[in-house]
Amino acid sequence: MQSLAQTLKEQLTGPRWTDSSLYVTEARPGRATVDGHDCLLLCSNDYLGLAGDARVVEAAASAGRRFGFGVRASRTFMGDTTIHRELEAALAQLKGSEAALLFSSGFACNLGVISALAGPGDLICSDELNHASIVDGSRLSRAALAIHRHCDVSDLRAQLDQHRPDGRTLIVTESVFSMDGDLTPLPAIVELARERQGVVILDEAHATGVLGRAGEGLLGALGLHGQVDVVTGTLGKALGSVGGFVAGSRDLIDFLSQRARTFLFDTALPAPAAAAALEAVRIMAAEPERVATLRHNASRLHSGLLASGYRVVRADSAILPVEFDDPQAARGVCEQLLELEIVAIPVGPPHVRAGTSRIRVQASAAHTDTDVDRILTAFAAAAPNQPA
Ligand code: PMP
Repeated sequence: MQSLAQTLKEQLTGPRWTDSSLYVTEARPGRATVDGHDCLLLCSNDYLGLAGDARVVEAAASAGRRFGFGVRASRTFMGDTTIHRELEAALAQLKGSEAALLFSSGFACNLGVISALAGPGDLICSDELNHASIVDGSRLSRAALAIHRHCDVSDLRAQLDQHRPDGRTLIVTESVFSMDGDLTPLPAIVELARERQGVVILDEAHATGVLGRAGEGLLGALGLHGQVDVVTGTLGKALGSVGGFVAGSRDLIDFLSQRARTFLFDTALPAPAAAAALEAVRIMAAEPERVATLRHNASRLHSGLLASGYRVVRADSAILPVEFDDPQAARGVCEQLLELEIVAIPVGPPHVRAGTSRIRVQASAAHTDTDVDRILTAFAAAAPNQPA
């Protein structure tokens, strides 16, 4: 019989999903020391440059001095602190909700929330490009699954017509899709859910800090506060920390705090992480110009890349998908960018269609106009000959 090591080696003969040859020795907003070089990052979720903000770092340090780093227990076993409670209140306010609940990550949040709200006899309608945490939470729930074509409300409607559950109907979607950077057709989804008495779960992971005047997210940007039952999110992207949260009615939060297994049976978020996110929420509200800078940088990157002949189909968010027909082209461009001390990550199948490749460029408010100029000059130099 083969050893586990041998079988695992054989299982890994296909394409590898991640390249672990590069790592960071120091990081600052928008940049990092990679392999000894000071590089600009185009692959960071720290959209507002808050992860390294001195005030955010000091809030974490101060909470660490007061509570220690780890909180020693789950929330229900005295892992609860005033900071967790303050952060939940701040997040509820940000999402226009009555209450919020923290999880140790956005992934754990989606797993716990979806599997607590749905079960056998229920129906989950999910966009085909929804994040792995939504897919896994849905599978865990043992509800029936109906996957609709990406952002296609008529297909969603057809799925709802076809599947008539005995129990609850849930429609789950991301606000900003993480690989494509496009926006979900939220008003139409809310309308359809109302018509069918369905529950909408909206994941604002890549929308919080990015959309809306002060980074409220898609919900706030569209003025739809209060019209979506369940809002999830992460503290690990624009809020510069780590952790996840769900926001909604007080009854929803009360239910989830008693039934979401990734909340109940998980060590609480470290107090420094909660304090960092709390400070980030405060800064975001006080300094909306950060969101404006992010949008400005995204739009400059978009037009500059188009001018160099790259194919970038949209700039609806901070995620700009740069697409190539050649499966190797994205890798080639990223290698040339790295020579110029700019880090962008090539993405191939299974993340994108077979026979194509992509660079997922992520804009940041931490980049100056000079940084953006440097990025665009580097892309222009690296441009393969491809049709615009
Ligand atoms: N939802 C979406 C849409 C995401 O992109 C991610 C992170 N990649 C998550 C949830 C998970 O969040 P976290 O990284 O905090 O676990």
